[in-house]
Amino acid sequence: MLNLYGMSLSEIEVLFERWGEAKYRARQLWEWLYDKRVFDFDAMTNLPKALRIRLAAETTLGVLSIAAEQSSYDGTVKRLYRLPDGQLIEAVLMEYDDDRRTACISTQAGCVMGCVFCATGQMGFSRHLSTEEIFEQAVHFATYLAEKGERLSNVVLMGMGEPFHNYEASLAAIHRLMSDLGIGARHITVSTVGLVPEIRRFAEEGLQVRLAISLHAATDEERAALLPVNKRWPLADLLDACNYYIHKTGRRVTFEWAAIAGENDTPEQAHALGRLLRGMVCHVNIIPLNPTGGYSGDPSSNAALDEFIAILEGYGVNATVRVRRGIDIDAGCGQLKAKIAQQGE
Ligand code: SAH
Ligand code: SF4
Repeated sequence: MLNLYGMSLSEIEVLFERWGEAKYRARQLWEWLYDKRVFDFDAMTNLPKALRIRLAAETTLGVLSIAAEQSSYDGTVKRLYRLPDGQLIEAVLMEYDDDRRTACISTQAGCVMGCVFCATGQMGFSRHLSTEEIFEQAVHFATYLAEKGERLSNVVLMGMGEPFHNYEASLAAIHRLMSDLGIGARHITVSTVGLVPEIRRFAEEGLQVRLAISLHAATDEERAALLPVNKRWPLADLLDACNYYIHKTGRRVTFEWAAIAGENDTPEQAHALGRLLRGMVCHVNIIPLNPTGGYSGDPSSNAALDEFIAILEGYGVNATVRVRRGIDIDAGCGQLKAKIAQQGE
């Protein structure tokens, strides 16, 4: 079976050409799928009957099935998807009071990077996701929202996995988010643990995509203890690559900071971070740690974070604490899968 969600408009055109159909039929089908969100071929009344029958017989829409779903009181929806080979991945939809509707999607089943506090890192690496498996997570949320009269406005590649370790598929999925779901590059964010060659390569793509860097510590020693990747690409190289991205794209870079009580929320770390980022076109996003089974740290207190932010202000570095969304439904990266796996044992 051919997966239609796996095909861009031009790929559908090639298929229809092979089937002996007129090229404009591809756009008609595309409009049903992505503009009108009609998925029943019988209802696609401007397509010839024979084509509709052939589509029903030879194509399928999507490869993901929902294995579990949880909704939070704050409107966050978390889904566990099963892939055709049985792998489980997570995707989260966050609704904000303004019109923003943000999907957080996965790029890999598991992750090889081994960040100590991350539920996905703790489960190890299974495999890369394909472009269609990445893209389809967003399509399902777009459909879910369309049924409520709402629109998916933002996508963050911040679920399970390291997008730049699966560079080609992640990039191709970003292009499809833009071309098929109409999401502007400025409303797409890629979060990376800090793979320096890929940050530089991404800067060359000529896209206005937002770049988020998982920083979490301001000295090489502390960062390497949390994020093993820092041994391969230490802070100096990472910040060089970030400055290159800023220079190439003109965009501000976001630094993610999972605030861990007594670890990286101390005044010493705040000063080190202030010195590191002083003068850079950036923003620090502080997220109090989501506790996970494999790591004993606790989230920072509000008092510690207030002081942390005040110290950064002294260096002219902008920082805000992000509200934790879906905290009641294990909406942190990899947490739902970890819980389901635990329940299955
Ligand atoms: N691999 C990419 C994107 C997925 S992780 C990356 O690391 O950037 C998305 C974000 O969640 C990263 O900033 C990551 O450091 C953070 N994160 C992972 N586990 C967390 C936890 N337990 N609490 C808070 N943030 C966490
Ligand atoms: Fe992988 Fe990101 Fe988790 Fe690190 S934080 S283990 S890079 S998913």
